[in-house]
Amino acid sequence: MSTTASEALFARAKQVSPGGVNSPVRAFRAVGGTPRFMASGAGAWLTDADGNRFVDLVGSWGPMLLGHAHPEVIEAVTAAAARGTSFGTPAEPEVLLAEEIVDRTPVERVRMVSSGTEATMSAIRLARGFTGRDKIVKFSGCYHGHVDALLAEAGSGVVTLGIPGTPGVPAHVTADTIVLPFNDPAAVDVAFAEYGDQIACVITEAAAGNMGVVPPAPGFNAHLARTCAAHGALFISDEVMTGFRAARRGHWDLDGAVEGWQPDLMTFGKVMGGGFPAAAFGGRADVMDLLAPIGPVYQAGTLSGNPVATTAGLTTLRLATPEVYERLAATSTQVQALVTGALTEAGVQHVVQTAGTMFSVFWGVTEPVTDFAGAQAQDTGAYTAFFHAMLDAGVYLPPSAYESWFVSAAHDPEVDSAPLSRLAEALPVAARAAAAAAR
Ligand SMILES: *Cc1c(COP(=O)(O)O)cnc(C)c1O
Repeated sequence: MSTTASEALFARAKQVSPGGVNSPVRAFRAVGGTPRFMASGAGAWLTDADGNRFVDLVGSWGPMLLGHAHPEVIEAVTAAAARGTSFGTPAEPEVLLAEEIVDRTPVERVRMVSSGTEATMSAIRLARGFTGRDKIVKFSGCYHGHVDALLAEAGSGVVTLGIPGTPGVPAHVTADTIVLPFNDPAAVDVAFAEYGDQIACVITEAAAGNMGVVPPAPGFNAHLARTCAAHGALFISDEVMTGFRAARRGHWDLDGAVEGWQPDLMTFGKVMGGGFPAAAFGGRADVMDLLAPIGPVYQAGTLSGNPVATTAGLTTLRLATPEVYERLAATSTQVQALVTGALTEAGVQHVVQTAGTMFSVFWGVTEPVTDFAGAQAQDTGAYTAFFHAMLDAGVYLPPSAYESWFVSAAHDPEVDSAPLSRLAEALPVAARAAAAAAR
């Protein structure tokens, strides 16, 4: 497989952009080698600058629920762009998209932004404004975008007062961030016993997808909702990845809707932008109405609710019918079965974990992974070997063992379909490569 064009572009990119990329994981540093510069996508397939074709199991990190360049999305977006790309005024598409989100989820009001980072940042500000409190609780291994206060990483012990996870975040900015182990209700109780009247909110990924897929233990999210309510704090469920992806109404469909609880605030992104920069936060009307222009909590954006981006999101969600989610689930199950079959055959220890239609593989582990420490115990060397063998065979996987895999409605669940037979052909060699590299 020639990579000449990607190599040339990467060399030029490194001259003008840090690391040659605009978002770090894209640079392939975790797995080594040259990132593929993609030139086009159609359905389940990506084509790189050298003309190599790949079955895509990344889906732009989640947004491409319907596959690449879905004809109806492209048509709607083209028509919207022809009517004008930004007005800086309210417009109909953002109302329609907000109505769709309110219809599917427990949120009563929605404010649009342009990225998931902005959504979580704004939700935290609103929670602090509403409660008049400063402390926030997050869980280690959960990613909420590159918000300063949320980059605080895990320490050990039950309650770790935040340590900046990156240079450039002053210690005082994370001093009010309490980082707890994921899936540990006792740690939450200890934190609330100590700081209950100072905690503005708990933010969690509805199901963790940024340390590999680590679903919440049954009742964990319910415990967070209940604990927040008991202490006058707000419960923020970050569904930027899981929203309209894990299931039709997001991960909440799988726990809150069944168990009868609701988050106070939710954040969305990825799928709801349909491949464009659109994201949102929403929630209880009494909390959301504290935002400017009704209330004093300031939040704004030049391109927020952009008509082209919201048209892409709206068209995507309208096409994402219950049948589409059934198809996604069937494809996801089929891909898991193929992968696990090949790895087992080659003798590679692994655990496949799911959150609705999202899934990922943990390498070299024997027990289910329930938290960040467990995720970090995996054998990333085995994945690196597997990743490169799959890439060479024309299957595009996330260039890190700590990421979720995504299928789209354009991936046929049938094993003899073109994408899945490409996968099935690639797997035995890649599984043997993983076995050879396993520690
Ligand atoms: C991707 C992601 C974000 C950040 O969204 P961006 O659009 O990349 O800023 C926030 N939270 C979760 C759970 C995510 O997966």
